[in-house]
Amino acid sequence: MEACFRLILFDIDGTLITTGGAGVHALERAFHTLFDIKDAVNSIPMAGKTDVQIIKEVLGLHGLSYLDGNVKKMQEMYLHYLQEEICNRDKKLKPGVKELLNLLKNKDIPLGLLTGNLERGAKIKLHPFNLNEYFIDGAFGSDHEDRDELLPIAIDKFRRKGFTFTPKQCIIIGDTPRDVRCAKIHGARCIAVATGPYSKEELLTTDADMVLDSLSETEQYLTLLTGNTELI
Ligand SMILES: [Mg+2]
Repeated sequence: MEACFRLILFDIDGTLITTGGAGVHALERAFHTLFDIKDAVNSIPMAGKTDVQIIKEVLGLHGLSYLDGNVKKMQEMYLHYLQEEICNRDKKLKPGVKELLNLLKNKDIPLGLLTGNLERGAKIKLHPFNLNEYFIDGAFGSDHEDRDELLPIAIDKFRRKGFTFTPKQCIIIGDTPRDVRCAKIHGARCIAVATGPYSKEELLTTDADMVLDSLSETEQYLTLLTGNTELI
């Protein structure tokens, strides 16, 4: 196999796709069904957080324990509703995503996910767009509730599949300051893209190596992603 110097890891919501509100609606329905809580996630900012983190925050906000199986029950109910909610007409691929993924796949660059979504939730969200096939593996909110812990987990999963990468050889592509932080604390690169809730100006105040309006600006970042040299 050709030597790969880069592992590219993608966030999902706001980066690859918008779910048309499916994630929020599924969480709200689950909180309503299980705990009779309405508009549960309205009160907390969600972007960049892991699903487990969001569930625990809402449970805490309503004085509910997360030690007695409530988190597990919420996850199952959320995934059940997500299957239904993803069938909405407002979900969309972000600009340039399919073109970029095809281009990287054709160059045999290993691609993964690094997302706060539960692994099953990630697959449900990507399935209608036929995106699951592009990703060899990834680290998910179901692997660890703290996003900052996910990069080493992703590297370890790829190692078990025969790919050896150091954090410095990884590039995370995401849409929030939390994506930037979970890359930079390990010395990885990060491309921030302003297709989620954060503006380009806001993302420029982070440590991102590059900030883009959208992933369709291929000429700006393609050398960083596909260059045949090791990242320094
Ligand atoms: Mg995101």
